[in-house]
Amino acid sequence: MKGFSSSLSASVMAILAGVMTCLPVSAQPPGWNDPFPAHKVMDNLYYVGTAQLGSFLITTPEGHILVTSNYETSVPVIQDSVESLGFDFSDIKILISGHAHPDHIEGDALVKQMTGAEVVVGRLELPYVQAFETPGGKEQPVDRIIDAGDTVSLGGTTLTAHVQAGHTNGCLAWSMDLEENGRTYYGFIECSLNGQFLRYVDNAEYPEIASDIQQTYRNAKEIPAEVWVSSHGVFYGLDEKYETLVNSTPGDPNPFYDPEGYKTHVEEFEQIFLNTLVRQVTEANDQ
Ligand SMILES: [Zn+2]
Repeated sequence: MKGFSSSLSASVMAILAGVMTCLPVSAQPPGWNDPFPAHKVMDNLYYVGTAQLGSFLITTPEGHILVTSNYETSVPVIQDSVESLGFDFSDIKILISGHAHPDHIEGDALVKQMTGAEVVVGRLELPYVQAFETPGGKEQPVDRIIDAGDTVSLGGTTLTAHVQAGHTNGCLAWSMDLEENGRTYYGFIECSLNGQFLRYVDNAEYPEIASDIQQTYRNAKEIPAEVWVSSHGVFYGLDEKYETLVNSTPGDPNPFYDPEGYKTHVEEFEQIFLNTLVRQVTEANDQ
């Protein structure tokens, strides 16, 4: 079989096996919340996530935007990362909620409690977010509801929402301008293109999942992502790109500038989905 599994190392595939499903809190995998060095991606976009769970800080003169809280137990790790960069966690004014799986939204209530940030949630994610049971029964916060094309602005930075439906019903991605050395780049915070281990045949909860995710791959091929990140570091080669970053010298290219890598990534994940779909349809027909 050509495609994804042939082009990634065994260790990456092992991580992906857990990542693919976005595991519930009870199955929180060991090591996912291990600290990862916080670093600048480009301009005012910083990585503040854990070893396996992406979280991003966008700094502005009027306070900061945090994209994705992850597990509740991830929040202190994220806070340490923000402070290691010299920023104040309490200056977070807006929390953009991650896609509606426990490993990306469980910490929203705690971040809200700690910062008072306005919590932004995608409209299509709302039923799942509202039904979500937080640790300790905290109320899952929702302050602003977002549709595709809506923008979130703070202190001169504007993010535009994109819906990448499939992995969840309303998986939200965000684009923003990033500047470096006098050039403006198309920055993209991907949601998730993970189509493995989702159910495509007779999915009563999400009947249009297969057509949604196929549309998402089509749309993703049109996104001119130049500097891109995602909800799990492994999706965008965080370990390798960070290694390149720390070994770089002034004047070297920014390793997070990777437009060709985005195209390859979309094609690889589409191929995983297609393989999964074919297998599920074949199994259904055999019954
Ligand atoms: Zn997920």
